[in-house]
Amino acid sequence: MIPRSIETSDPTETEALGAELAAELRAGDVVLVQGELGSGKTTLVRGAARALGVADAVTSPTFSIGHRYRAANVTVSHLDLYRLGGLEQEDPALLDDYLGPGRIAFVEWPEEEGGALPSASLRVTLTHRGGDRRRVEVGEGGEEAPG
Ligand code: ADP
Ligand code: MG
Repeated sequence: MIPRSIETSDPTETEALGAELAAELRAGDVVLVQGELGSGKTTLVRGAARALGVADAVTSPTFSIGHRYRAANVTVSHLDLYRLGGLEQEDPALLDDYLGPGRIAFVEWPEEEGGALPSASLRVTLTHRGGDRRRVEVGEGGEEAPG
């Protein structure tokens, strides 16, 4: 993994970066995707999922904590923990369906998970830069601090 920081100027470029990252991933990997609302987290995951062979439309999970998409060789999990507020009150098995062997998981709002996530392969941080510009930083994953 080569850490990098780039600026995108439209959603297509952010999707393309997601696709580029997807090429570095393998089953079992967890990718933390951080950034404010509207910074492009779901957009990046969409590009990655498509590159991994997901044909379905990738939309933001609203009625559950995540979606799972079947691709040719892997299941792509897309979690959004925004409304979770710490997993301590939740069944720890809640994440089991989304993580583990044969899956690549993208986790929006990983800071809400309260220590239940396995260590991550990559961490992507998106920042608003005005208009359609976004800073996208890609770095090592590591453990999410309990919180
Ligand atoms: P998040 O998941 O972080 O809340 P989304 O990906 O759902 O963000 O939404 C990002 C919004 O910003 C979309 O409407 C997208 O079209 C728009 N957008 C504009 N410029 C960019 C960019 N450079 N990268 C990603 N999204 C962008
Ligand atoms: Mg989102």
